[in-house]
Amino acid sequence: MEALIRERFEQVLEKMAKAAQSVGRNPEEVQLVVVTKTHPPETVYAALAAGARLLGENYAEEGVEKMQTLAAMGVNLTSVKWHMIGHVQSRKAGLIAQYFDLLHSLDSVKLAQRLNQFAGEHHRTVPAFLQLNVSGEGSKSGLPAWDDSHQNSLLEAVTEILNCPHLHLQGLMTLPPFFDDPEAARAYFRKLRGWRDFFARRFPQAGWDHLSMGMSGDFEVAIQEGATLVRVGTAILGVRA
Ligand SMILES: *Cc1c(COP(=O)(O)O)cnc(C)c1O
Repeated sequence: MEALIRERFEQVLEKMAKAAQSVGRNPEEVQLVVVTKTHPPETVYAALAAGARLLGENYAEEGVEKMQTLAAMGVNLTSVKWHMIGHVQSRKAGLIAQYFDLLHSLDSVKLAQRLNQFAGEHHRTVPAFLQLNVSGEGSKSGLPAWDDSHQNSLLEAVTEILNCPHLHLQGLMTLPPFFDDPEAARAYFRKLRGWRDFFARRFPQAGWDHLSMGMSGDFEVAIQEGATLVRVGTAILGVRA
């Protein structure tokens, strides 16, 4: 299993670099988050052995349990960053503030305020991306952002989030609808980049450097459209149980 994961990890890195170069971007601008949700600690260990340093988890408790199991196995986690990429219920905000290095999926002002409170108690500032729903699909979380009619509500939400001193907003994240053809996702990635440019004009004092977009099936298109982090699970670790 370790050799296979290493091979796929390196293949993904190679494809990422090629995608960046295809549009004249520096491959070093794009980071790979290996999505380990539902995979056991042994698989996470293999990903780390292959060179993964950013790990994405969807459920707070599952992630924390893995961190603790790996630490108990004696794995050195000092250079590993744990990213929360899934929807976080407000009552789990404490776990995020205590254990995770970055939140991709900040999707409400209420969650921002809860996180801000817990992060303050832990004397931390939590880096976060605002998750936008750019498709209008009801099943997707994220603040409504599928057309320009959402401008005012988004400006209000960002204003409130920027008032949270223990959160550090650094960019945007989205999850487009699933398509067999990755080209079909391109318009949604472009839309996220459009919102980034919009916020950067309105709130130049805040950080808008990051776009978290692209998964196993469409990370190359996402990189061509400006992704700075891609979140890849299946293409490296195989199909989830
Ligand atoms: C599961 C998941 C991924 C990874 O999906 P793959 O298709 O396995 O690469 C990326 N982002 C989010 C938010 C996820 O939930």
